[in-house]
Amino acid sequence: MMETDKLTYEQLLVENDQLRFRLEEANDTIEAIRNGQVDALIVKNGDEHQLYTLKTADQTYRVFIEKMNEGAVTLNRDGVILYSNSRFAAMVDEPLEKVIGLKFNVFVPEISCDKYDEIINNGWDADCKGEMLLSSRDDKLTPCLISCTTLDLDEGTALSLILTDLTIQKEAEWELKVKNDQLEEAQDAAERLNNQLEDTVRARTSDLLISREHFKLLANNIPQMTWTNLPGGEVDFYNQRWFDYTGRRYGETEGWGWQQIVHPDDLQKTIDAYLASLKSGKVFELENRYRRWDNTYRWHLNRAVPLRDDTGEIIFWVGTATDIEEQKKQLDLKDEFIGVASHELKTPLTSLKGYLQLISAYKKEELPPVVKQYVEKASGALNKLQRLVNDLLDVSKIHAGRLEYMLSEVNLGNLVNSSTENAAHIYPEFQFVNTVQGEVLIIGNAERLEQVIMNLINNSVKYSTDDKRIIIKTEVIDDVARVSVTDFGIGLSPEQIDRIFERFYRVEDKKFMASGLGMGLYISAEIIGNHHGKIGVESELGKGATFYFEIPLIKR
Ligand code: ADP
Repeated sequence: MMETDKLTYEQLLVENDQLRFRLEEANDTIEAIRNGQVDALIVKNGDEHQLYTLKTADQTYRVFIEKMNEGAVTLNRDGVILYSNSRFAAMVDEPLEKVIGLKFNVFVPEISCDKYDEIINNGWDADCKGEMLLSSRDDKLTPCLISCTTLDLDEGTALSLILTDLTIQKEAEWELKVKNDQLEEAQDAAERLNNQLEDTVRARTSDLLISREHFKLLANNIPQMTWTNLPGGEVDFYNQRWFDYTGRRYGETEGWGWQQIVHPDDLQKTIDAYLASLKSGKVFELENRYRRWDNTYRWHLNRAVPLRDDTGEIIFWVGTATDIEEQKKQLDLKDEFIGVASHELKTPLTSLKGYLQLISAYKKEELPPVVKQYVEKASGALNKLQRLVNDLLDVSKIHAGRLEYMLSEVNLGNLVNSSTENAAHIYPEFQFVNTVQGEVLIIGNAERLEQVIMNLINNSVKYSTDDKRIIIKTEVIDDVARVSVTDFGIGLSPEQIDRIFERFYRVEDKKFMASGLGMGLYISAEIIGNHHGKIGVESELGKGATFYFEIPLIKR
């Protein structure tokens, strides 16, 4: 019966359909188990069928297991996987349906075999945990933590494994280790640095100690009184000489306490100059009187210079007070002498001048021309001498506070005009350019102001070089009258400008030495000061100078 032995094409189709049906059924079963819809599984074992029921037939748990992040498998005694969740299948990179029925150890790499055996063997006895590697189809190794628990199923005991992927944890541990190593290295470096720093600080401290001792030694052994003060002005140190001189203790004159030692007449100007220096950061320099322990006052020259840090900020000031009482006395004596001498010189000079005038007025025909010439020369020299004596007298008067004169309304323009005419007469080789802006009325002393104007013109002539132009301007700016004299001569440096109005100051220039005693500008500044005005100069070395003064206009 060939027909009965051989399967017909139709029979094959039927069989094929049946097989597909069974496959679908099997897939449905697996899906159903996974979703918790069925609780039992029949596994064909040779000719026998074995039934596995899932005793914990709780659908919720199964869903839970299916969704959890750990791999979950159940093994029978032979290590065959009875159940796996999708996460485990993903860990070993196999389709879920292929995983079930395989022996678990196909996913255990050689290196972890012993560990696996140990965990499983222990697991059958009691709950246990252990770490090992899991290998996937493409030999990717995953570090895992395996927790074992036995499960009592109807058909016997099974072993449940929960596998936690430790990759991220291991990476984190590794990163942590690297970071730890780096931290340790940094700590080492910090410690080394700290040690170096400590060494430096120790060295600096000893340097500081030495330099403080140096400072103290120096401060206590110089003849001056010294102090240091903070940027705000408070004195925080005096040398021994200060305490010896004042007879006071530190607490009495520290901070601003020094004010009680200053002569009451000098106090305001001392405070003003001190505050001005603190504000500007410029050297403090001033003469004043300090009270000694025996209540007598002695003149002192004070100087304080600021000490700055790398950024230019002032850290503190170092000040000195030098006793100039003796010099002051000598200076007073000298001034007194100058005063008396110039006064004594004045009388014979006046009579000399009178006699010369008498001679020059003598009948012309009776005087040989050469004598007339001599008389003119003598008059010129006499005028110069008289100016010098007058200046000396003025200086001693200023010093004694006795430079007095009458004040009246003065037309400054007229005064400048006549002075310029006079100058043009005396210095014919110079070219004077004079501009006066209308009527310029002020209150003053015409004679003294003329003295100032002539002094400025004389200087501009004296300190001119090849360029013989002198420009004189009288103008009104806001409510002041301003007279300026410009030359194109040797000019002045900023340092020289700072000092030229001092008494007897002269620029020391070996190349260019003009006659003079350094009194003219000092007297001029005093006169302008008495007129409530201001005197000044704008100049650059080698480029000439413009000297000017300003006096308030009469208010109408
Ligand atoms: P002196 O009698 O020496 O001229 P002054 O008091 O008039 O005394 O001037 C003081 C100093 O100022 C002079 O020695 C000179 O160095 C300087 N000086 C004055 N006027 C001028 C100027 N026009 N150009 C340059 N330097 C001048």
